[in-house]
Amino acid sequence: MKSSVVSRLALAGLVSSALIVSAQTPFQFPTANHALYEVGAELKFLAPTSPDRSWTTGSFGCVRTDGWQMHEGLDIRSLQHDRAGEPTDPVMATADGTVMYANTKAGLSNYGKYVVIRHIIDGIEIYSLYAHLSEVRTAVGKNVRAGEVIAIMGRTSNTSERIGKERAHVHFELNVFVNDNFSAWFRKNMPGERNDHGLWNGQNLDGLDPRDILLAEHDPVKKFNLATFIRSQTELCRVLVRATNFSYLKRYAPLVLKNPKADKEGVAGYEIALNYNAVPFALMPRAASEMKGASRITLLSVNEAENRAHPCRRLVIQKGTHWQLTEKGLHEVEMITY
Ligand SMILES: [Zn+2]
Repeated sequence: MKSSVVSRLALAGLVSSALIVSAQTPFQFPTANHALYEVGAELKFLAPTSPDRSWTTGSFGCVRTDGWQMHEGLDIRSLQHDRAGEPTDPVMATADGTVMYANTKAGLSNYGKYVVIRHIIDGIEIYSLYAHLSEVRTAVGKNVRAGEVIAIMGRTSNTSERIGKERAHVHFELNVFVNDNFSAWFRKNMPGERNDHGLWNGQNLDGLDPRDILLAEHDPVKKFNLATFIRSQTELCRVLVRATNFSYLKRYAPLVLKNPKADKEGVAGYEIALNYNAVPFALMPRAASEMKGASRITLLSVNEAENRAHPCRRLVIQKGTHWQLTEKGLHEVEMITY
């Protein structure tokens, strides 16, 4: 049922207001722009990178630099501005949660001023991120309600190319949290590089497609469940890792599968399925007798069609007839299991 129909029925007293879907869905739109649900109105919802480019450049995925650069969120277009043409849209929490991070120094990130909120939906921890803000109106540690104003849309970023007024937007992400030990991993593996945001560095948050989620939860037939949504990601590759104690296992216990053999013999490692954005969405414990290869990380399989469709994270590469993890791919798996 279209929301306008629901509203008319509600006005006529034919359905109770509880039936209006926006109050029932786990995630709400972070601004007043809801044009995602208008068929063919993609350009009303998303801001492309320039007027002559497709709306898809404002969507999630391998949509930048001819498909070779990842964009990990949605660029949701501004609906209101002041006399100087600056966006003034209130930005709202997508769900009930706790503010974990607020970067108020625009120059410290390509996200500019940004906020990260932690939510628990269907037993899964998910982190929403709102970027390029002009003003943060919340604070770390605050519990917020879905729809509560947390910031004002802006055009902040530390990149040399500024965000033009005509494409003012909030960059909105929904992420899994990769590792509690990220800061230590970063110091060890990125010597000399700055990490101004600790655990809230964008590298420690792996994005899911918020457009997919907002569309799926609006499906009138299939009931949306975040754990099921994550479990049904398409596999890019599968790796076997000789590690048994990393924070993702605890945080994302609903994604850990059962293996009676490993239960009986003891767990020697994990077989991990990753989607094209390196989100681990299924983790299978393995017994010592099931381990393969001598190295800490072994690539078990690659979904070649998926890699052709979404190659931009460059996690795997074909050498002759066999596939291997790239340095980036290895880094990702190390970061997850550190
Ligand atoms: Zn963006």
